[in-house]
Amino acid sequence: MSRKPLSILISGQGIAGSSLALMLARHPSFSPKPNITLVERSSTPRTTGQAIDIRGPAIPVIRLLGLEEKIKQRHTSETGIAFVGANGEPFAQFDMTSNNKSPTSEFEILRGELASLLLEEVEVAKETEGANVHIVYGESIESLEESDDGVQVKFANGKLTTQKFDAVVAADGMSSKTRSMIFGEDASQESIKPMGQYIAFFTAPRVEGDTDIWRWYVAPGGIGIHIRPHRNKTTMGIYLTVTNSKRERMPELDEALLKGVPAQKAYMRAKFAGAGFQSERALDAMDLADDFYMQQTAQVRTPKWSKGRCVLVGDSAYCIMGMGTSLAMIGAYLVAGELSKVASSKQGDIAAALTRHEEILRPLVSKHEKMPPGFPQMASPQTRFGIGILRTTMRVVTFVGFHRFAQLLGEGTDDEWKLPDYGW
Ligand SMILES: Cc1cc2nc3c(=O)[nH]c(=O)nc-3n(C[C@H](O)[C@H](O)[C@H](O)COP(=O)(O)OP(=O)(O)OC[C@H]3O[C@@H](n4cnc5c(N)ncnc54)[C@H](O)[C@@H]3O)c2cc1C
Repeated sequence: MSRKPLSILISGQGIAGSSLALMLARHPSFSPKPNITLVERSSTPRTTGQAIDIRGPAIPVIRLLGLEEKIKQRHTSETGIAFVGANGEPFAQFDMTSNNKSPTSEFEILRGELASLLLEEVEVAKETEGANVHIVYGESIESLEESDDGVQVKFANGKLTTQKFDAVVAADGMSSKTRSMIFGEDASQESIKPMGQYIAFFTAPRVEGDTDIWRWYVAPGGIGIHIRPHRNKTTMGIYLTVTNSKRERMPELDEALLKGVPAQKAYMRAKFAGAGFQSERALDAMDLADDFYMQQTAQVRTPKWSKGRCVLVGDSAYCIMGMGTSLAMIGAYLVAGELSKVASSKQGDIAAALTRHEEILRPLVSKHEKMPPGFPQMASPQTRFGIGILRTTMRVVTFVGFHRFAQLLGEGTDDEWKLPDYGW
């Protein structure tokens, strides 16, 4: 007797959700192919965002998906990083290295371009491989109820009717609502560990003097301006950071996040006016930017990633600065791989597959959760004295090399963690 295809609901069309949809759609070991429904709260595809990078065991994942060359072709074109003073003069610089240990990765890509690429690949899988993927924008989960034979899901906006799924995946980012529905509101809030930093990203026109080097400027008060290249050579990515002296939330920024983009831009304008380097250019470009996005820099640490038929993937489970995108793609690979092996859609089989994915991934995530001491506060000093220490440190790092410095801070390799083989 032929088996019924698994029905899988994914909440969130970010990097984790789109990667998982693609991996489920194209997985060689699924028989029959699963039915995938992906709901995204935004009414249009979320294909914006500045530089993200792909590192460690996420590199074999993109190779297995056949995306390595496509991602390389979309490299931001960044060739290194320079720390600059208020007049723009660099006082320390690192160039991109082939060992993937510079701040710029060989797989540095705009989030918007990666998100678009993943969506395009899903469309190709639908057309050429008969994959069953249904993406619904402007929709989100209103409630979940798990029983022996599936998870009954009600949707908030009436674009989908109430229905049962064999598995539900929360890929809706750091502030995941689906996580609250699975583990409870208090546990969900408790899992967000503030780092005392907020970051705004947006695109600006490229101007004379812009290069393919990431320029990083810090000013007293814990503020930072970063200007990074785009491969199109007509625009640049600007990042504004605000960091306090402790790893604590900033109520005034939380309020701006709740109020929306105009309030966030107004906060940034007041904070960065006259800050030095290219603050006025940055603020003028911010006012005109239509892709402005701001978020808290936080770690998400959740004690459990799955409960019965429900699982967290990506930032909703383990948001770690510098590794968020890589871990999101690795998590998607493992969830797709373990689900491809289930013998039936019975609760026990699905729950065991989701637990196995966590057993495999947890050691890698735990390793990356350990932040370098004093991070990010030491890189965003509050005083001129602190900036002086940072400058001296950066000159020393130039001397010892970025790779060696990362090792001294305790950053090892991921070589001991092995990506399982699921028959790709
Ligand atoms: C618009 C945007 C721009 C970003 N820009 C950058 C950047 O420039 N640099 C950087 O390092 N990181 C950026 N990030 C974060 C980065 O993408 C993630 O940290 C990382 O890639 C892990 O991805 P994720 O899929 O887990 O989460 P995300 O990429 O945050 O994706 C989560 C998705 O879930 C959707 N969603 C949220 N709530 C619901 C809900 N209730 N129902 C349905 N869908 C929901 C969101 O709209 C989003 O599409 C950005 C995220 C977003 C959403």
